[in-house]
Formats: sequence, structure tokens, C-alpha cells
Amino acid sequence: MKPAAFSYHRPRTLEDALALLALHGFDAKVVAGGQSLAPMMNMRFAQPAHLIDLNALPELNGVTLAGEWLAIGAMTRHHEVAVSGTVRAACPLLADAAATIGHYAIRQRGTLGGSLAHADPAAQMPLIASTLGAGIEIVGPAGSREVPASEFLIAVMTTDLAAEEIIRAVRFPVARPGERHAFEIFSRRHGDFAIAACALTATLEDHKFSGLRIGLGGVADAPLVLDGLAAGFVGAPADAATVAAIADAAAGAIDPYDQPDISAAYRRDLVKALTARALRRVMQPANTTPH
Ligand SMILES: Cc1cc2nc3c(=O)[nH]c(=O)nc-3n(C[C@H](O)[C@H](O)[C@H](O)COP(=O)(O)OP(=O)(O)OC[C@H]3O[C@@H](n4cnc5c(N)ncnc54)[C@H](O)[C@@H]3O)c2cc1C
Repeated sequence: MKPAAFSYHRPRTLEDALALLALHGFDAKVVAGGQSLAPMMNMRFAQPAHLIDLNALPELNGVTLAGEWLAIGAMTRHHEVAVSGTVRAACPLLADAAATIGHYAIRQRGTLGGSLAHADPAAQMPLIASTLGAGIEIVGPAGSREVPASEFLIAVMTTDLAAEEIIRAVRFPVARPGERHAFEIFSRRHGDFAIAACALTATLEDHKFSGLRIGLGGVADAPLVLDGLAAGFVGAPADAATVAAIADAAAGAIDPYDQPDISAAYRRDLVKALTARALRRVMQPANTTPH
């Protein structure tokens, strides 16, 4: 299929892009990597009269480390996030997850901001942003604002972004010294969207969990961060019994859709298995962030 007719704009500054959005409002869409929007337009689920291309805006690109925060421009490609030495050192969970998105060609075009704005509940970047407590930097006619990822991602393909706003960057907290991480994903075929995924960070002291964050993707309308559940296991010994208890609790904490091809029980079993696998990985001696 082919998209409906549209006017193409390629602004050279962020101000010009915002002015175009303000002018055309709901009739306009910005395009980043086009990996989600182009198929939606081809299938005519999206029919913007004006397409505003963000690819000529260098200020939306790149990775900057500033103190305790890693700022990544919205137009930064998944591949760059996956291979950047700065991202790997400061936020290794993010690098690991980015490397699992789709296939190489998709990672070369798809962007961090596009993935967050598209808000697929099975997508890797929304899951990592929510789990780590990232902030989404948004610019619009009223200036700029920052929204926590968990508040930005409202439901399936629904975010806090207004029609005339653009995501400028995403700020991830830098991993704490000694923090361990694991990303586990299950999909039907390599490169497919996740049926379920688990993102996890942990710190260990005296063979006990002293910090734990657990995020689940693909199991609800938006990424699910199990902060309350994780807090209940701080102080628990890092052993097989705790792994089983956390994995059981995580599976019990979700209420997934019961679909004809993927039952709710199957997704619960997957979450249990992925959470246990992630926990076993963070308990391995070599799994720490070097600082
Ligand atoms: C075959 C295939 C397999 C894929 N597999 C996966 C996968 O396994 N995991 C996964 O997470 N993703 C997957 N994707 C999606 C891919 O990650 C896309 O990159 C992502 O969903 C959208 O990013 P994009 O830059 O291409 O955005 P676009 O398609 O250009 O835009 C998507 C939406 O975001 C909006 N938008 C884009 N940038 C901004 C911005 N800066 N500010 C405001 N709004 C913005 C657009 O207006 C549009 O509504 C797959 C895609 C394909 C085609």
C-alpha cells in the first residue's frame, strides 16, 4: 500500500520545526527514523497532511554525560545507543536493551525519541526509560518541560506529548558504582517485538540485595515497574530461594491480556522465567558496572 498524499517539510532548526507544528497542529506529524510511522502511513492508520522531518536537526542528536545523568538526543539511532562506549559505561542496561531492537537495518534508522513517542508497550526503550526513572525532555510553544518516563507513557501508543510538542532528549540516571544489570527478552523469532521482557538492576552487599529495580515489558498497556515489590526484597539473601520468591511475586503482580495465541497464563510463566533468569545473571560475580 501507499500513503495518502502529504506535504513534506525539512526544517533546519528546532524553532522552525516547532513553528511548523504550531501552524499545522493535528494535521502534522514529525518523522524521525520512520520505522513505525512509515508503515502506519502505508497502511493508512496515520494520514498526516504535513510530514515534518527531524533528520536535519543536529541539536537532537548525540550522547552527553553530565554528572549523574546521561542525556541522549531524541534523534539518536538505536544502533548508536547500542554501540556507544559512553552509554555502555554509564548505562549498560540501556546499551544491552538497544542491541536487541529489531534487526541491524531497523536499529540504524529507528530513534530513541521515536520509540518513546510511538509508545509500543512491548518496545525496549520505553521499558528501560521507565525502569531506570529516565526523564523525557519535551519542547513546545510554551518552552520546555521534563516528564518522568512512567508518567509520559500512558497506554498503548498514548503519551503525554501534545500535538505541537517534540521530544528533544531523554535523561537517564547513570548507574551507581557496583550496580548490576540484566535484560531478558522473549520473542517468537529473533528481532520480533517482545512477548515479554524483564529489565533489572541490583546492588548486592554481603550476599544480600541492597537495591533492586524490576521493569516488565509486553505485559500491560505500558511498561510495568515493580518498585513496591522490589523494595520488599531489599535485605533478602541473594540465593535461589529469593530468586524463586521474586520471580513468583513478579508473575503474580501482572494481569496480562488473555489472547487466543498468547494466553495470560503463558505470559505469567514467561515473566516468572525471565525474572528468574535476570536475577541469576545479576548474581554472577562479573556483572557489575565499572566505576
Ligand atoms: C520490522 C520492524 C521490527 C521492529 N522491531 C522492534 C523491536 O523489536 N523493538 C522495538 O522497540 N522496536 C521495534 N521496531 C520499531 C523501531 O524501534 C522504531 O524505531 C520505533 O518504534 C520508532 O522510532 P522511529 O525513529 O522510527 O520513529 P518514527 O517511525 O519516525 O515515528 C514514530 C512516532 O513517533 C513520533 N516521533 C518521532 N520522533 C519524535 C520526537 N523526537 N518527538 C515527538 N514525536 C516523535 C512520530 O511522529 C510518530 O508518531 C521495529 C520496526 C520494524 C519496522
